[in-house]
Amino acid sequence: MENLISLVNKIQRACTALGDHGEESALPTLWDSLPSIAVVGGQSSGKSSVLESVVGKDFLPRGSGIVTRRPLVLQLHKIDEGREYAEFMHLPRKRLTDFAAVRKEIADETDRETGRSKQISSVPIHLSIYSPNVVNLTLIDLPGLTKVAVEGQPDSIVQDIENMVRSYIEKPNCIILAISPANQDLATSDAIKISREVDPRGERTIGVLTKIDLMDKGTDAVDILEGKSYKLQYPWIGVVNRSQADINKSVDMIAARRREREYFANSQEYRHLAQKMGSEHLGKVLSKHLEGVIRSKIPALQSLISKTIVELETELSRLGKPIATDAGGKLYMIMEICRVFDQIFKEHLDGSRSGGDKIYNVFDNQLPAAMKRLQFDKNLSMDHVRKLITEADGYQPHLIAPEQGYRRLIESSLGSIKGPAEAAVDAVHAILKELVHKAISETELKQYPALKVEVSAAACESLDRMKEESRKATLLLVDMECGYLTVEFFRKLPQDIEKGGNPTHSIFDRYNDAYLRRVGTTVLSYINMVCATLRNSIPKSIVYCQVREAKRSLMDYFFAELGGKESKQLASLLNEDPAVMQRRASLAKRLELYRSAQTEMDAVSWSK
Ligand code: GDP
Ligand code: MG
Repeated sequence: MENLISLVNKIQRACTALGDHGEESALPTLWDSLPSIAVVGGQSSGKSSVLESVVGKDFLPRGSGIVTRRPLVLQLHKIDEGREYAEFMHLPRKRLTDFAAVRKEIADETDRETGRSKQISSVPIHLSIYSPNVVNLTLIDLPGLTKVAVEGQPDSIVQDIENMVRSYIEKPNCIILAISPANQDLATSDAIKISREVDPRGERTIGVLTKIDLMDKGTDAVDILEGKSYKLQYPWIGVVNRSQADINKSVDMIAARRREREYFANSQEYRHLAQKMGSEHLGKVLSKHLEGVIRSKIPALQSLISKTIVELETELSRLGKPIATDAGGKLYMIMEICRVFDQIFKEHLDGSRSGGDKIYNVFDNQLPAAMKRLQFDKNLSMDHVRKLITEADGYQPHLIAPEQGYRRLIESSLGSIKGPAEAAVDAVHAILKELVHKAISETELKQYPALKVEVSAAACESLDRMKEESRKATLLLVDMECGYLTVEFFRKLPQDIEKGGNPTHSIFDRYNDAYLRRVGTTVLSYINMVCATLRNSIPKSIVYCQVREAKRSLMDYFFAELGGKESKQLASLLNEDPAVMQRRASLAKRLELYRSAQTEMDAVSWSK
């Protein structure tokens, strides 16, 4: 496996970036698409032995009779450093470093599921081996195919095992190690039979001939090994595993390998094939095959990586820049964010964004409607006119014209305009506040909760101040109308009204109905004239004090204060929403990984 390890080492770092983050958007990784390797063959043909020598470790139960009675899914995980250990899925977080104990646990776990009988089970045992000396790979040891049920086994067992085996090896990314023992006729090989079924063209089947050392004296496997008996896409590979006697004597793998090498090198029949025989060669063939598979995945991985890099960059730019570290940078950043906010706020007012039209609606609809609702004509009922004129006259009725009476009637009517005037001030204020919030939500401010609160408070404070000014100015307009009446209006009136009517009328006739009605009408038309003026001047005053001022100096106060803040206060203003901060950090980290993955991948794709 050494060849493969060096290639995979290069890709490893790249793939860690793709596979090991375990966060939200799990990506398909190289390892998901790597092939698994399964061994198939008759009972006691040497499957477990072959698998062990591929892994280079003694850890599988081996022996005569049906030993492997449950599938063993063995996952090899490469770790960067540290001691080799194994972990069973059914024993989470229990690290086994003694591989004899691993073998015993496989046997025990098999018995737990099937009982000590000769039954089999299709429930796999999952075993992971973590080691610096392996590549990430899945190997599957399967129960041996049989021909008849023995004592204690149900009749269906033959078919059951076959179905189970087929379910593993029919997957297109499964490499089949078809194990046939050399001391049996190849025509009876279960391995060849079933692998031909799922892989008719032999594109992923590697024929392995075991027990060459156990052949009858006078026979040899040369024809098979040379592909003359049964041709496969890949050349046949003969192996000599440890015999039961070796196992009993605990002959280790290194010694076994040496003996196997010697066996092929020294035997008359196989010497010419020696280079292409043995467990080591099988390991190399497998490595080469895997290498080819891995290399074929590189272009897809490369495009996946570049696609992901683009996605990550897009999201990062959407999240905005990370915060500056020095005070100046922070101040600049805050000012910049506020400037953008201010700009957006203005755009809402000016009409390039929505909302400013609501203000015109106040002037065009709300204010005139509210003024209309004051119903001056009802206020100027005859009784009311009489009451006010009489009161204004006091103990002496007016002589020429009820000057004081007029003034009081006009003042009391005009006073009521203050209501709609103030309402207009308030309505515009509310709209401005709404636009402030709208603008805030359209800026980066939403990701700095502290700054958002401060800016929103500062803007609202400014608006409050402006509203107060506007209220004063608007009421002043009304007061000014009360303070000085338009003289011309009265001068132009028909004289008899002003003079108190026809001289033939007695002084008491001055309060008769017709007279009072005339006074009422005069006052009403004056009020209407003033109303028309105010309908024009109130919006001017509101715009001057609130809208124009908001556009001019909404953030002035805040900026002035900002200048006096210390670095620490600025930092706390820029305390981002922790979620955003975290997201940006993890995106940036991921992006870095992907960029280095890209570099690694590029290097690998050029190397041979
Ligand atoms: P499995 O049932 O197919 O998994 O076969 P095992 O790997 O358990 O091997 C069955 C028996 O055959 C064990 O006793 C092994 O020692 C023995 N065996 C396997 N391969 C060879 C071989 O190449 N030569 C010899 N002499 N014995 C072997
Ligand atoms: Mg076995």
